[in-house]
Order: sequence, then C-alpha cells, then structure tokens
Amino acid sequence: WLVLMSLFFICCGAGVGYYLAGRSIKPIREMFKRQREFVADASHELRTPLTVMGIAAEGMEGDTDSNFSEFTVDTLKTMRIEIKRMNNLVAALLSLARNDAGAGDLKLEQVNFNVLFEQTLGTLSMLAEQKGLKLEQRLAQERLIIWGDRMRLEQLLTILVDNAIKYSARGTVTVSALRQNRQLVIKVEDEGIGIDTQDIERIFERFYRVDKARTRAEGGFGLGLPIAKLIVEQHHGTIEVESKKNGGSSFIVKLPLTVQH
Ligand code: ADP
Repeated sequence: WLVLMSLFFICCGAGVGYYLAGRSIKPIREMFKRQREFVADASHELRTPLTVMGIAAEGMEGDTDSNFSEFTVDTLKTMRIEIKRMNNLVAALLSLARNDAGAGDLKLEQVNFNVLFEQTLGTLSMLAEQKGLKLEQRLAQERLIIWGDRMRLEQLLTILVDNAIKYSARGTVTVSALRQNRQLVIKVEDEGIGIDTQDIERIFERFYRVDKARTRAEGGFGLGLPIAKLIVEQHHGTIEVESKKNGGSSFIVKLPLTVQH
C-alpha cells in the first residue's frame, strides 16, 4: 500500500506540475505567435508599395520623351534593381513567415515532375549560358508523379540550380531527376567554389551566407536554402549536401513518389 500511495502522490504531483508549467508558458507562446503573425503581415503589406515603386521607376526609365541627364538615368536604374532585390527579399520573408505563422498551406495536386523539370530547366539554361556554364540535364524516361504543390516544387528546383550557377565560375552544372524505388531523387551538382565543412551545417540557417561580400554582389540574402529545406519538409522529403571547398557541391533531394496503379 505504501508503495502504491507513494506512486499515486508522485503522479498527482507530476500532473499538477505539468499543468502549471503549461499555464505559465502560455503567454510566452501567445507572444511568439503574435510576433510570427506580425512578420507575416508586415511582409505582406510591404509588397504593394514596392510593386508601385518598381512600376514607377520602370516607367520613368523607359520614358523616351524625357531629357533626363545620364546621372538621373543611372540613378533610376539603380533604384529599379534595388527595388527588385527588395521585392525578392520580401517575397522570401513572406513565404517563411507564412509558414511560421501556420498559414503556409500547400496547393496539393498530382504534379508531373517530368514536365516541371523540362520547363524549369528551360528557363534556367539561359542563365547558365550567359555565364558560360554548361547545363546538363538527366531526366528519367518513366513518369515521375508527385502529390505536391507545383509552384513550390518549381521554386525548390530553381533555388538549387540558381545557386549552382551563381557559385560556379566555370564547368558543368548537372541536374538529374531519377526514380529510386518509391522516391524521386533530384541531384544538382556543380563544379563551383564548394562549401567548407564548418559552413555546411549552417547554410540552411536563415540569412546565413558563407561569403557575405560575394553573395551580396550575387544578389543573395541567405534565404534560398532555408526555403528549399522548408519545401522539402512540406513534401515529406529529405535534403542533403556533399561539398568541399573549391571542390564543387551536390545537393540531393529525395521526395516520395505517388504510387502508380
Ligand atoms: P543565397 O541567396 O545567399 O545564395 P542560400 O540560402 O541559397 O542564400 O545559400 C546560403 C549560402 O550557401 C550561400 O550564400 C552560399 O555561400 C552557400 N551556397 C549555396 N549553394 C551553394 C553552391 N551550390 N555552391 C557553393 N556555395 C553555395
């Protein structure tokens, strides 16, 4: 009896403690929730004025009737580029903040990844060409069907290939999408600058950039990979990196395929 009674009191004590602890952290949880919603709302509200400013700057720049000085034309160009950068930043922040605030719902549908792959890489191949890089594509012959959000999957592929192009001065970027059992394996390999071992574990952190001066010139904010990781997680997949400094990088994404009957 003594043992049973002691056990009973220990359980009661633990239960009351758990309840009180839950109550005391409730206001903190609420505060974090409000903060997350604030970031999401602020990012959303910033989009409209930025769009208006972008259109205005573009309009002025294209006004052939004006007698703008060379200085004014240059200033307008800088303004337009910076507005575009800020637009990208706000869009990236919004997509992370929406998810943090629990509103990052996916538009799920059957996605034919073969079509998505060809379309996305078609656009990106021009970017590679401009930099004098070779973009090699390897796509499975069989149909790769994913139950997912088309736009986000496109964004995922774009982030990885865009990075491979950005961080390579020469060589080939190889992108493959193949089936392995019930998984789609996407591999983006480059022969670029690579990533130091100590940085590899940090590159998925928000705003983390290995070389801040360099990536600023390249237009990065350190939000691409955190978004890529989020998209992969939302699709119940995994993302891995193999890289070494000056030895190129490979990003490997594995996503579950829809079972075909
Ligand atoms: P960014 O917009 O700066 O590229 P990301 O979140 O996409 O931000 O990447 C974070 C950092 O990881 C980059 O700033 C860069 O230092 C490094 N990185 C990402 N992809 C590659 C790559 N393919 N090769 C070398 N470094 C990379």
